[in-house]
Amino acid sequence: MIQPERIHPLNDDSPRPNGTYILYWMQASQRSIYNHALEYAADLANKQRLPLFVIFGLTGNYPEANIRHYQFMVEGLRDVRDHLAERGIHFRVYSGSPDEVALATAERARIVVVDRGYLHHQKLWRKEVSEYAGCQVIQVESDVLVPTTMASTKEEFAARTLRPKIHREMKKFIAPVTERELLVKSGIDHIEEGLNLDDPHLLDQFDLDRSISPVREFTGGQTEAERRLQLFIETKLTNYGTGRNDITATNTTELSPYLHFGHISPLRILIQLIANASPSDENVAVLIEELIVRRELAINFVEQNEQYDSYKSLPEWSIKTLDKHREDTRDFLYTAEQLEGAQTHDQYWNAAMNEMKLRGMMKGYMRMYWGKKVIEWSPSPEVAYETLLYLNNKYFLDGRDPNSYANVAWIFGKHDRPWGERPVFGTVRYMNANGLKRKFDIEAYVQWVESLSDGAE
Ligand SMILES: Cc1cc2nc3c(=O)[nH]c(=O)nc-3n(C[C@H](O)[C@H](O)[C@H](O)COP(=O)(O)OP(=O)(O)OC[C@H]3O[C@@H](n4cnc5c(N)ncnc54)[C@H](O)[C@@H]3O)c2cc1C
Repeated sequence: MIQPERIHPLNDDSPRPNGTYILYWMQASQRSIYNHALEYAADLANKQRLPLFVIFGLTGNYPEANIRHYQFMVEGLRDVRDHLAERGIHFRVYSGSPDEVALATAERARIVVVDRGYLHHQKLWRKEVSEYAGCQVIQVESDVLVPTTMASTKEEFAARTLRPKIHREMKKFIAPVTERELLVKSGIDHIEEGLNLDDPHLLDQFDLDRSISPVREFTGGQTEAERRLQLFIETKLTNYGTGRNDITATNTTELSPYLHFGHISPLRILIQLIANASPSDENVAVLIEELIVRRELAINFVEQNEQYDSYKSLPEWSIKTLDKHREDTRDFLYTAEQLEGAQTHDQYWNAAMNEMKLRGMMKGYMRMYWGKKVIEWSPSPEVAYETLLYLNNKYFLDGRDPNSYANVAWIFGKHDRPWGERPVFGTVRYMNANGLKRKFDIEAYVQWVESLSDGAE
């Protein structure tokens, strides 16, 4: 059974009596494994003795997405197509805005099921569809462990305020999501052919930003996500607790791009961890803190703060203190172009920027250093915020995510606390290169990034 807390009707409409299929409009949860929305739609299809039709709207105008993101996403959609075909579920990808594609296919649906998205445009699409579909539209939340409304219905102050709520509720939601056998596998006639996901020129029809290249190191899709998860459990989990911040090794999951595109669910990761490690394993506890508490804190932030993508979303204390130090002398000032070009005096920062450009990822600890320096080198905190969000969302494969907005805001004090007062930063937490030198073999990190550049085309 899908827990009722995950299920939310989006309108008061009734099922369409002559609808010939149950429609699952896939948008945020781009996977067929551990997808509560898909399995809920399958349950409805079986109850109503109807076939299940799964659709995805591929738009060339996805906010801030470029060829790097699109390629990763299409790789994931191929996986979905193949797996759904094995299960006898019809799947089509149509060209168009997701809401328009959903509305067009909803015309013959008895009920529409959709997964949940937390960003403005995702909410808007769901609102449009629930208003105009002409039948019942039900949203099922599958990309968090604890459904957001169960965790908290207000904007949380910090991890420490959300953590006890998550821990109180989480046990109830740690339940496997089994794949339902479809009772009716045929009966969807006359559906339009969709896009050919194997066409090497598929994305040519869209006017995408092609100024940056796709990332070869990361292939999108649930199969690759599962492989990486297994590899992490077998070879890296034992080092996660103590070694996750080591920038000269990879001791983390590197699953954030897969979580962003919904290629894997946090529940799936958690269940695999629990199945393969002892319940008292400290590494699992640390990963739960990142994967569940921190990640769901970011979702709480974008869900509850209408201004999550603006400087105005920052806490009052940090806006005040940064304002007080607005006129402080900056030892170095760089334009957004210089920063994007990794042309600063700081070779550690440049290496981080180059890692981001080449890999679409950055070691977690370097993300913090990278962000903090931009405050120090920008003419104002507002410009620093704009620059960081722009670079974050352009280059990271996991960018444009609730985590992107929450963590860029963290650089400016969100979910953090005031520290000792100093120039430019005021009481916002500061970081410097000495910390990097003390903690890591930072030169080895720089060399590693240079070796990546050597291999780049
Ligand atoms: C300035 C800055 C920008 C960031 N931008 C992004 C972003 O655009 N997208 C993104 O997904 N993460 C972002 N992060 C958070 C974090 O650095 C990455 O999630 C993490 O490095 C991804 O690597 P991983 O999958 O190997 O993480 P792991 O250590 O393996 O953690 C597992 C999962 O837990 C979650 N997680 C880990 N750390 C955090 C955190 N601090 N906050 C919230 N969730 C976390 C992620 O979903 C991650 O995939 C940013 C952090 C900073 C400081």
